[in-house]
Amino acid sequence: MTDEHYLPQAPSGTHDVLPPASARWEALLVIFADLAERYGFALVHTPMFEDARVFRRGIGEASEVVGKEMYEFTDRGGRSLALRPEGTASVVRAFVQHRPATPWRAWYATPSFRYERPQAGRYRQHHQVGVEALGTDDPDLDVEVIALASHFYDALGVTQRQLRINSMGDPECRPAYVDALRAFLAAHSAELCEEHEERYSLNPLRVLDCKKASCVLVTQAAPMIDAALCDGCAEHHRRVVEGLAAAGIDAVPDPRLVRGLDYYMRTTFEFSSSALEGSQNAIGGGGRYDGLAEALGGPATPGIGFGIGIERVLLACDAEDAFVIEPPRPEAFVVDVTGGEAARDLVEALRNRGIFVERSYDDRSMKSQFKAADRSGAPLALVLGRDEVESGSVTIRRLREQSDQVTISMTELLARAEETGTIL
Ligand SMILES: [Zn+2]
Ligand SMILES: [Zn+2]
Repeated sequence: MTDEHYLPQAPSGTHDVLPPASARWEALLVIFADLAERYGFALVHTPMFEDARVFRRGIGEASEVVGKEMYEFTDRGGRSLALRPEGTASVVRAFVQHRPATPWRAWYATPSFRYERPQAGRYRQHHQVGVEALGTDDPDLDVEVIALASHFYDALGVTQRQLRINSMGDPECRPAYVDALRAFLAAHSAELCEEHEERYSLNPLRVLDCKKASCVLVTQAAPMIDAALCDGCAEHHRRVVEGLAAAGIDAVPDPRLVRGLDYYMRTTFEFSSSALEGSQNAIGGGGRYDGLAEALGGPATPGIGFGIGIERVLLACDAEDAFVIEPPRPEAFVVDVTGGEAARDLVEALRNRGIFVERSYDDRSMKSQFKAADRSGAPLALVLGRDEVESGSVTIRRLREQSDQVTISMTELLARAEETGTIL
């Protein structure tokens, strides 16, 4: 194919976030950063790509994410690299590499990449906010992490939501449970869905999560993990459930809640929005991954975290008409009919004093500048004509109400901005 007719556009499954929609993204990130920091989490940035082994070992070869969806490539130096398919493994790799003091609490906002079939609400590059806390298996930390996510949804106004919670057990109790589940599925394999009829044995837990009617029906009689937990896991789970209740957070127990990544242990949780369609109603989730640091070559270190897809949670906001963010408007629009130099100096002086001001460029006519001032949404026009420039003053005109304009000295305007942080 020739390049002649190629019209550059964002790759399939990706999207641009532009103003005014981007104002919501910005507000969302500010809310998340604020909340995360209140809970003791500090920002971390890790590379967008890692040695592919970070994800192979961390997430697991058998997982769909690594097996089918990961963007893997060989760089010019012959290294096998992969774009981050999810948030946790990279952060835990950074923990293992730098060995910070524990408990180590990190938050992030980052794109993740998966080669999925593009469809509404699913992207090949999607964005997440999340947290990871490493260094303790105290169930109170599970409660804090879940509470943080829950308050984030509150702050966005996502009220039609449900939190499901489960324990996936640990190396002491899970193997026996998985064996029992596998044996049960073996006895019913002919009744499973097409995919699981053959593949149930590889990861029997995935069958519990299968949405196909046949698998749902068969597993109704399957052994469930909640009855198979060892004393340690049962006690941990009891403390988490109790802590959430004490925090006033409703959580529905769901023994089918097994997360797709192999490193999860004990607590798993998922938030869903009842305002979104069933198959795509998950708006965030996470869990404990006490084996992950070790899988990445570090000392055995318990950890817990969650990831929240920004695109998906914004869809949930839309479905509830929540989190409507008006893009910021300038306080004033500078109209300069003397050539633009006075405007150049005034906007710089005001911006230096913390004021959001706008202006026109290209020495437009007064009429055209006032049109632009109206469009900007600014309540004030600061007019600079020949008289004003000569006398070192500025005329303030209210754009949204009938009132007399006033002319004040530039010194006074700047002093007001300096003192009060506003010129309104
Ligand atoms: Zn199935
Ligand atoms: Zn256990």
